[in-house]
Amino acid sequence: MKIICIGRNYADHAREMKSEIPAEPVIFLKPETALLPKGHPFMYPEHTLDLHYEVELVLRIDRLGKHIDRQFAHKYYSQVGIGIDFTARDVQQVCKEKGLPWEKAKAFDHSAPLGTKFLEISSLPDSSNIQFELLKNGQVVQQGHSADMLFDFDALIEHVSKYFTLKMGDLIFTGTPSGVGPVVVGDVLEASIEGQKLLKFSVK
Ligand code: ZN
Repeated sequence: MKIICIGRNYADHAREMKSEIPAEPVIFLKPETALLPKGHPFMYPEHTLDLHYEVELVLRIDRLGKHIDRQFAHKYYSQVGIGIDFTARDVQQVCKEKGLPWEKAKAFDHSAPLGTKFLEISSLPDSSNIQFELLKNGQVVQQGHSADMLFDFDALIEHVSKYFTLKMGDLIFTGTPSGVGPVVVGDVLEASIEGQKLLKFSVK
């Protein structure tokens, strides 16, 4: 399986990063080794001094597809989960300045912890405006609503599938709202969708 991530999909986050509002989805990939195995502690990575959280809604692909038209995109997913797109912000800054790829900053081992389960989108109060949030040490640090995405789920499926065949089990991290920030050893992160807590771990 592969993990496809979308950058700058919320205007308020693009602004806080002083990045341009993109005209089309910004795509990068993480390998399967970016997942945090169940029961495995999350260790602060050695290659950064400025690790940031980014909470994101995550789509899981249900069926094989390529060149998926927007009008059929909804047939390719039915569940949404939550995950953290961990980013070594200092490493990313160097990559950006040099025009180099982001993988060292974004795709390292355990950079994509996922919630314990996925939810049926049809069971949520408003499938076109899914609320999610991240708490750090009990304080809300990020709050998002999927209606604020620059490119909605169907637009992402259409765009991503022009370049990459989507396979069952692939994940799409759909971008983070504003409020990203650093973590230090000892911090506890908790993420939820519509008030349902789906992910909780501490930084070791
Ligand atoms: Zn992200």
